[in-house]
Amino acid sequence: MERRRIRALPDGLKAKIAAGEVIERPASVVKELVENSIDAGSTEITVTVVAGGKGLIQVTDNGSGIDPRDADLVFTPHATSKIHTEKDLSCISTMGFRGEALYSISAVSRVTLRTRRKEMLTGVRITVEGGSTPEIREEGCPPGTTVEVRDLFFNTPARRKFLRAEQTELSRIVDVVKRLALAHPHIRFRLFNRKTKILDTGRTGLKERIYHLLGEDVANGLLCAELSRPPCRVEVALSPPEMSYASAKRLFLNVNRRPIRDSLLTHAILDGYSGMLENGRYPFTLVHIHMPEEYVDVNVHPAKIEVRFKEPNTIYTVVKDSVERALKGRAVKSSELTRKKEVDKRASYSPQVVPQAKESTAVYTPSRDTSAEERGLFEEHTRFLGQLWGEYALFERGSEFWLVDQHGAMERVAYEKLRNEYSERGGLKSQYLLVPERIETTPEETATLNTFSQALCGFGFELVPFGPSTTRGGQTFLIKAIPHLLSGVSTERLIKDIAEELAQTARGTKRLEDSLERILMTMACHSVIRGARVLSVEEAVELLKAVERTELSSWCPHGRPVVRIFRKEEVEKLFKRR
Ligand code: ADP
Ligand code: MG
Repeated sequence: MERRRIRALPDGLKAKIAAGEVIERPASVVKELVENSIDAGSTEITVTVVAGGKGLIQVTDNGSGIDPRDADLVFTPHATSKIHTEKDLSCISTMGFRGEALYSISAVSRVTLRTRRKEMLTGVRITVEGGSTPEIREEGCPPGTTVEVRDLFFNTPARRKFLRAEQTELSRIVDVVKRLALAHPHIRFRLFNRKTKILDTGRTGLKERIYHLLGEDVANGLLCAELSRPPCRVEVALSPPEMSYASAKRLFLNVNRRPIRDSLLTHAILDGYSGMLENGRYPFTLVHIHMPEEYVDVNVHPAKIEVRFKEPNTIYTVVKDSVERALKGRAVKSSELTRKKEVDKRASYSPQVVPQAKESTAVYTPSRDTSAEERGLFEEHTRFLGQLWGEYALFERGSEFWLVDQHGAMERVAYEKLRNEYSERGGLKSQYLLVPERIETTPEETATLNTFSQALCGFGFELVPFGPSTTRGGQTFLIKAIPHLLSGVSTERLIKDIAEELAQTARGTKRLEDSLERILMTMACHSVIRGARVLSVEEAVELLKAVERTELSSWCPHGRPVVRIFRKEEVEKLFKRR
């Protein structure tokens, strides 16, 4: 008889394939193990990794432990203590429910699990190697559970080859632990890379936790609000709009203490900031949504990081409103600030204070005996008229009136300079700092800066690792040189923003060329001083030329318009002359 074409796969192979769905990389193992510890009611969870998790991942908890009578089922597919009937599936209150994580992990690694229930005198040790039959043995151990996962993907070389550098895998693990730690503020989380402590959240309040996980700036600027609108209650803690970042990775969304991704809710958050954020910038936000389990389906994604809401629109509105409410708490303050800044600006840019203010007086009146250049006339038909509020440059060009956003145009000028230098020299020229600057970096930033040290050299930076930092398990670096075109900018912010761009490259979400552009844009953005500025005629000329030069010229690197052109007829229409 001819062999059948469709055949059931042997169990071992099935397991390896299934593992691929939930266990993609070391960080997914960490996620599944820590979730089990959370489900077991632990108050302390410690994660230790070696070689970015490729060598060892160990998770220890002080939770319930496993009954020795259940030991034979722990590594069996679809065996779980968390749900029992189909009805249970519609109201899941635990992180896990499919009973396949430990089974999948054990199919592609060497696992040892030690566990003891508090009331028992001894515990058990279970070992499995690449999906072998579990070996169970009685063993003395402390209450709680420890799972050790060694040599991930040792028997699926194709998958193992797919893993990234140790530092990259480590930074993903840090991210997973951070997300779970923000979702469960009552549990103490610790993360070690070999013996080095990377995170320790302690057991204190939310602000303290945010301080440990995200840094002092975020913790100090925190704005909080809470909103109840049945069926849900939403708590938010977020950063003010002026503290923004180049990537969206500080948006933390949780539903019933489960960290999730959700594009609708991401929009809700950003819409809540309603235009207060600059284009392409993202805030820190921690959102906790609480609602009855039957209003959310958590069984829609292999790694359980997406959910389906019964009433998505309601939730969108509550999240948006909560963000608005948190921001409103300080709206008064912010407008006061703006007002104060305006007064300051006016003071410092009034002609008496700034000697060269002659050129900046609102509308320049040409007098007969000044040169063409001084009159702002640098081309036939083109005249620099002056500035509005120190922020917009005004030009008359034949029968057109040009209104140029100085800040955007300056970014454009800076961007072009950087790009030209980069493409001509194959890199940016450095300038050594008189006094090297010391910066502290988070574990992720450290990983990125180490991975991309070569690329950073190409961008004109010279960074030297300078030992562990005193806080947050990060590192310190000495910055010895920066791109010469950027002398005088705040080095720390610049490097951190560039690290974010590079980290996204590492994640393979972007092509390197795209990143290159973005990095040069980030630099350009940093090189330009914000706020009002007096323009000399030469500067005005340079700006206008830059605006004209490229096709994209009417847009700054961030995508905001840089110039608005009004034709004479339009102006005439305004005054009903046409
Ligand atoms: P699930 O979490 O979906 O139930 P897992 O494969 O992750 O499936 O775990 C299987 C079972 O092993 C769990 O249902 C739980 O009873 C038990 N278990 C796993 N890890 C722990 C732990 N750290 N503490 C106590 N029990 C655990
Ligand atoms: Mg589980």
